[in-house]
Amino acid sequence: MSTHTEPERPISLAAPSGIDRAAHHRLDEAWLAAAWSHPTTRVFVVSGGQVLIDDTPDGGSGIVMTPAFEAPVTETHRYFLGTDEDGVRYFALQKDALPGRMDQSARPAGLREAGLLLSPRDAGLMVHAVALENWQRMHRFCSRCGERTVVAAAGHIRRCPGCGAEHYPRTDPAVIMLVTDEHDRALLGRQVHWPEGRFSTLAGFVEPGESIEQSVIREVWEEAGVRVGTVEYVASQPWPFPYSLMLGFTARAVTSEITVDGEEIQEARWFSREDLRAAFESGEVLPPAGISIAARLVELWYGEPLPRPTP
Ligand SMILES: [Zn+2]
Repeated sequence: MSTHTEPERPISLAAPSGIDRAAHHRLDEAWLAAAWSHPTTRVFVVSGGQVLIDDTPDGGSGIVMTPAFEAPVTETHRYFLGTDEDGVRYFALQKDALPGRMDQSARPAGLREAGLLLSPRDAGLMVHAVALENWQRMHRFCSRCGERTVVAAAGHIRRCPGCGAEHYPRTDPAVIMLVTDEHDRALLGRQVHWPEGRFSTLAGFVEPGESIEQSVIREVWEEAGVRVGTVEYVASQPWPFPYSLMLGFTARAVTSEITVDGEEIQEARWFSREDLRAAFESGEVLPPAGISIAARLVELWYGEPLPRPTP
């Protein structure tokens, strides 16, 4: 069995954030109230998957945070996100809109943008808050009896007053895989709705009653008509769009003929490293971009950083 080295660059949203989620405090209302009003506590607003970010003195970007007493007070959901190693407690307030900009450089950003700019700490806080917001938004009613549910546990449970059910945040597993053949060529596909030239790894949701390895094998077969044998786990990435967890794999093909499904995948091709380099240089192929683990999986095989897309 071969082993994988970690990708050279950290996977966006998946690096250690330095935040202790301190889940044992979530049901302790007295502790939460004291934490909320503590002068060192920091609060930010999450709304529609966005937060306000601002430039930091070190040339990076950070989430705009305030002490709780400056936080906008209205009817809101308050999520306790955890504590850092200095004892600072972090909360997110879910609101219908972001607060007005505090200065010229502060701006709203979603995870796809902010994930590339923020420190691991802030990216970790943001992905936690966005994941909770997405789950809350989509699970306002009890899936058992249909009653409207109420938020509990500092944003991490929804309780049903009708039947007493407790609902926990959902995380839907999805697999994403870099498939190679016996010549160490990589199988990359182009989704129907992607721009011309954009190729990336195949991916799909894990189905009920399926292991993640079975899911990798099935998705590659469905999307590209290729049979894979060995499947090896590489790394994962939270992907709250709206509440997935991307599980990254490498897989070895045992057949090479490609038959795309035409519904999800429009085109798939085997690329040698030389093929891909030439295709990048000619502009025929656009490298997978952004925060997705797909780019890291391709890079792991490619052996060097992928070229940055030209704006
Ligand atoms: Zn219920």
